[in-house]
Amino acid sequence: MQYQFYMPVKIVSGEDCIKKHADLFAPFGKRVLVVTGKSSAKNGALEDVVHAFNLNAQSYEVYDSVPPNPTVESVQEGARIARDMRADLIVAIGGGSPMDAAKAVAMLARQGVQEGDVFAHKITDDVLPMIHIPTTAGTGSEVTPYAILTNDEKQTKTSISSPALFPKIAFLDAKYTMSLPLPTTVNTAADAISHAAEGMLSVRAGALSDALARQSLRVLLGELPALLSGHFSYESRKNLLFGAMLAGTVIANTGTSPVHGMGYCLTYFHDVPHGRANGLLLPVFLEICARKDPARTAPVLEALGMPLQAFSENMAALFGRRECYDDSTLRDYAARSARNKNIKNCAVHFEEADLYEVFSRSVGGR
Ligand code: NAP
Ligand code: ZN
Repeated sequence: MQYQFYMPVKIVSGEDCIKKHADLFAPFGKRVLVVTGKSSAKNGALEDVVHAFNLNAQSYEVYDSVPPNPTVESVQEGARIARDMRADLIVAIGGGSPMDAAKAVAMLARQGVQEGDVFAHKITDDVLPMIHIPTTAGTGSEVTPYAILTNDEKQTKTSISSPALFPKIAFLDAKYTMSLPLPTTVNTAADAISHAAEGMLSVRAGALSDALARQSLRVLLGELPALLSGHFSYESRKNLLFGAMLAGTVIANTGTSPVHGMGYCLTYFHDVPHGRANGLLLPVFLEICARKDPARTAPVLEALGMPLQAFSENMAALFGRRECYDDSTLRDYAARSARNKNIKNCAVHFEEADLYEVFSRSVGGR
């Protein structure tokens, strides 16, 4: 058996883990920039980190203007603030958007890059240290080396990626996710499910990432009753956060696949939330994988713990009325997605016609 796996993030979890381990913030320096969004700062996480800063005699500023699907302008603005205050440490609080923005801020604060060159820039190791605190349970960005930014020139979302973008520490406290509205909870859970399933189908999948993906799917899909009913115990919230982090460790090593590449079209052109976009496309994607390469897909279907038909029905029930786009739009999206680098990352080869089939059967019909 051969495999490779890399995970340099220290993961600290549990109720009040920030208060209990406030000392972990201290070694990185005296000036901290908190990168967050408007609502993700309002769940107790900001109070807890401020408590830690006070104990450590650290000064701080808060940049709370990260938009969903962060833009290059917003991360350049964050980097300007980090440079002006001579920040030693970046602390990210929020979902994937603030966590990804924080990575770009930490990099741009140290590596001067013109606005138009961000996606082409070769990232060096000179990046401010980061501590990530997820307040959604989905992206796993707290344990990945990716920052996904809106790329207006290419009309898509593009990942900047480097081992230097791994946070130093991730604090996972499910109490911060208790305030998540139901649609965001469902969307982000679907994102994590997609990460685990896509990770297993990656050309870079291995025994260790597969083991983590299987466990992630078991934990996340074990919360289907809660996701379908909309009632979440603290235990459910903990499971969703755990499952999403596990899936993050998977894609940190495997990358994602055509589902993410296609989902970016729905997000860029129609503002469909990232997780919802993936969740809408995943069932038909898996069906086509099973048709094209049954042997390679079988372990993924087995890891779902239910027949693919039942999985598809559950996803449909979670998402309610699906988006519908006209045929020429979806043909255009299939052509765009075929150029995405995620396509080559999938062990099952997807032609443009297959991508079109996923789109048309998932969000077609207008
Ligand atoms: P998000 O855009 O970070 O957050 C969605 C919404 O939920 C925002 O309005 C946010 O408010 C709000 N919110 C966050 N935490 C909350 C809480 N505890 N209570 C109430 N509201 C809360 O969504 P996301 O799905 O977590 O992240 C999506 C982004 O992550 C996309 O840009 C996607 O491309 C990226 N992503 C990255 C990776 C990676 O490996 N780096 C993987 C997958 C996806 P605010 O306005 O305050 O933020
Ligand atoms: Zn994702």
